[in-house]
Amino acid sequence: MQPSKLLKPELYSAGSGDGDGATARLKGGRCRCGYVFFPMQTYGCERCGSHGDPLTPYELSTNGTLLAEATVHLHADKNRPAPFTIVKVALDDGPVIRTLLADDSARVAPGQRVTGRLVPTTQSESGETVLDHRFSAAS
Ligand SMILES: [Zn+2]
Repeated sequence: MQPSKLLKPELYSAGSGDGDGATARLKGGRCRCGYVFFPMQTYGCERCGSHGDPLTPYELSTNGTLLAEATVHLHADKNRPAPFTIVKVALDDGPVIRTLLADDSARVAPGQRVTGRLVPTTQSESGETVLDHRFSAAS
């Protein structure tokens, strides 16, 4: 297997189980009151206001439901390849996140089930494949 690294390791990790690193876990948090959020932070709970120790790391599933999608055809940064699609996803664990649709994914529509996975994006100077978290239609 080619060496690979994660684009944003502070936000997600490679899931275990299938061995190819394609699945992901999101690094969220949970408050003592039960509120689940993403990404992990200790500044304060949006529901009860607790901060510090009551907020603990909590791994989130990348399965969710698509709320909205928008395709960008022309980006202000000419070095950024377009088109690409931004999706807003309600995770099964609660938080709503906004991220990108996997390039090779079929079209998706609001209400559809989606799942996150790690896909190769660019290569680092050292030749490692850089993986980023993207959503695609759930199979
Ligand atoms: Zn709370």
